Amino acid sequence: MSHTMRITRLVVTQFAHVVEDMAMEETLGFDTVYTPGGRLPSGGSLLRIETAAGVAGTAPGGVDSGTARYLLGRNPLDREIIWRDLKRSRRSPDGSPPGAVDIALWDLAGQLYQAPIHELLGGAWRKKLPAYASTYHGDENGGLHTPQAFADFARRCKDEYGYPAFKIHGWINGPIEREVEAVLAIRAAVGPDMALMLDPAGAFGTFDDVLRVGRACDEARYTWYEDPFRGGGFSRFAHAKLRELIATPMLMGEHVRGLEAKADTITAGATDFVRANAGCDGGITGVMKIAALAEAFGLDVELHGGGLAHRHIMSVLRHANYYELGLIHPLVPNTKPPIYVERRWLDELDSVDADGCVQTPDGPGLGVEYDWEFIRANQTNELVFD
Ligand SMILES: [Mg+2]
Repeated sequence: MSHTMRITRLVVTQFAHVVEDMAMEETLGFDTVYTPGGRLPSGGSLLRIETAAGVAGTAPGGVDSGTARYLLGRNPLDREIIWRDLKRSRRSPDGSPPGAVDIALWDLAGQLYQAPIHELLGGAWRKKLPAYASTYHGDENGGLHTPQAFADFARRCKDEYGYPAFKIHGWINGPIEREVEAVLAIRAAVGPDMALMLDPAGAFGTFDDVLRVGRACDEARYTWYEDPFRGGGFSRFAHAKLRELIATPMLMGEHVRGLEAKADTITAGATDFVRANAGCDGGITGVMKIAALAEAFGLDVELHGGGLAHRHIMSVLRHANYYELGLIHPLVPNTKPPIYVERRWLDELDSVDADGCVQTPDGPGLGVEYDWEFIRANQTNELVFD
């Protein structure tokens, strides 16, 4: 039986939240670092897509008014048609369809069919996902401020929480010797079995810096080296050149938007792992397309950042290795707005089971209960499109 439903209303609920002891890094102002006494605004929003039939879908994020106008009156189950329309409407290099809209539509379908998204995607072969502890950036304020501090934290993530993998976001402003030292100190602290990754997040100023740290990753047998170039992480030539000179696999593509551009990145030899993010790469529909692309090339797809959509996707994909749990810090245990009733969905340091894995929900749609008491108590605005 086919369903003919119509979208009648979209609601974006915005809420405030503050993270204590965190602040924007002083010199540049766009990376969050540990700062005692700091108060970092970190609110968010939830998008709810409603139908006259009473079925609704919800996802973290929002919607712009043009997209909302396009969606009103459409069948919310036409996810692929909607995806293609919204992709065409944004024909530019960063023009992926809005992730929150697609995820909310998947949630709506799950509510209608009373099935979790992983079931709609083809079935979960696992619901226990190996996670990597993904750290905040290095700081100068007594948190992750030395190679030893990173090494101690990696050791704690392994011994106390059972994480099978650890990823460092290093220092934004050098010196490069400290970064090299951290790469080696972490491996020395955790032994040979923990998977280690390094993500400078575009911090290194010269090719020589990128190369020196890459050679340290080789020596310490890192699982991947992610977006080291100051240029922004999308030069195919630079990454292909780097891959000729180091042995550590590259993970590049977090800043490459669009299915076609991801394909060009692979064929240019710029990356070993393929990056995908439901928020920026067109939702669950977009990520599944990228996953199929990677599969065709014999490559693995690694999901950027956490979130429930990624848990459902990763449960279904054969060729995805680790769930990114972050960002986390040894001295600040709570950094996410507590929008879910259960803490294990929040991606905090202790949101893992005894083996350092996260779970995939089994409820309908995204499958998790929101804490509307918290959200309403901290609500700052509500946008309604009808
Ligand atoms: Mg990254």
